[in-house]
Amino acid sequence: MDIKVEQACPQCGAPIVIRETDRLLTCPYCEVKNFMRSNGAFRYYLPPRGENNRDKSMVYVPYFRFKGNIFVINEAGIGYKVIDTTQIGMDLYGLPPSLGIRPQAMPVKRLLPQTPGRYLSLTTRARTVLEKAIRLTPLRVERRETVRKPVTYDGENVVYDISTKMKTVEYSSHSRFLHRAFIGETVSFVYLPVEAGEEDIIDGVTGSLLLRRDQVSGNLLQGTPFNPRWQVQFMSTLCPRCGWSLDGEGDSLLMTCKNCDTAWSLGREKLEEVNWQMVPGDRRTALYLGFWKISGQIPALDIRSFGDFIRRTNQPIIIRSSWDRQKMSFWIPAFKLRPKVFLRIGRQATIGQWRLAPREGHVQDNLYAVTLPPSEAKQSVKVILAASAASRKKIFPFLPKVRLQDATATLVYLPFVDKGHDWYQPQSGITVAKTVLRFGRSL
Ligand SMILES: [Zn+2]
Ligand SMILES: [Zn+2]
Repeated sequence: MDIKVEQACPQCGAPIVIRETDRLLTCPYCEVKNFMRSNGAFRYYLPPRGENNRDKSMVYVPYFRFKGNIFVINEAGIGYKVIDTTQIGMDLYGLPPSLGIRPQAMPVKRLLPQTPGRYLSLTTRARTVLEKAIRLTPLRVERRETVRKPVTYDGENVVYDISTKMKTVEYSSHSRFLHRAFIGETVSFVYLPVEAGEEDIIDGVTGSLLLRRDQVSGNLLQGTPFNPRWQVQFMSTLCPRCGWSLDGEGDSLLMTCKNCDTAWSLGREKLEEVNWQMVPGDRRTALYLGFWKISGQIPALDIRSFGDFIRRTNQPIIIRSSWDRQKMSFWIPAFKLRPKVFLRIGRQATIGQWRLAPREGHVQDNLYAVTLPPSEAKQSVKVILAASAASRKKIFPFLPKVRLQDATATLVYLPFVDKGHDWYQPQSGITVAKTVLRFGRSL
């Protein structure tokens, strides 16, 4: 579930409520647009009770917030799950190990230099906390199974109708895996305020007793002041090339310029230009969805061309000679989806890429927001490769050695047609349910 963040407009100071995935802040009052960036993760806190007359004894306990899809590949198939959790980042008996649904129950606030109080330091590594969170719930594993149905018996032999179907099973062991990836993850910090009185340590939000002061060793609740590195920076949204005002939705990682047909993403220090193309639509086109076209080669599997890929993954299609000259690309949805749908659409676009001919395009109004960064798309390559394999044996055992070399990323918008409940991509046959796309915005 999404958490809401109360954020002051850097221009006029008006309070605005945005979603945690929002990177672009558009003030409804003064209409000024700003990109938000920080060094490392964003930091929020749960607003304490009686926030306006707090005293200095308030201390803030750090919790890691993870949200994203986890994919685990082992001999049994591809396991996945959505992870959405807030886990304590320090070792202190008596404090809640997780914030549960509390960050969703009320808007959290962004940590600011003027927020009074002290901040406890992390003593646990993010990786360790994430590992624990992964182990806590079973994965769902999807695998292709052969179904043998006896149809006739000719007195001597049973004749079977053999088909395959996808089956989803629960799989609880995480101990042995061939590959694992966290895709589309949000990592942030949510601080729980606690009132550290003379005798009691009290939950600053609910007012309930957490533990007695004498149960905590002296300097554990000392904390440090606000670190200036945590401060969020706001950046202008004018096109770096032509100065025109850029367009984008709140949670979009990309902004486009209608004036000079460029696309921009937030780099470490400044806006960086993104290579993009589109497969031209026609009168029926209602929407363009972006895919990261990640090109490269995989020496461990002798995959250099699209033809190599089709052969290696045992696709039941006839290979055209031109495919051996076509560079291999993985087509990864550039928008967040539930894991099962992500696997299907990535597989369909990757296998169907020979039908897609991207070229230069013009920025238009019906470009759907890009919410998955190219770095995450690159991390999905092995997962989509595994999902594309018609036979596991020729791909799965090699996954630990698979590396995509000379990888390049281009964003390609594909045209979709409105089919009532679904969006339909005419060239590749990809369908995306409208509800699934909407749901992805909250992932
Ligand atoms: Zn404003
Ligand atoms: Zn421009």
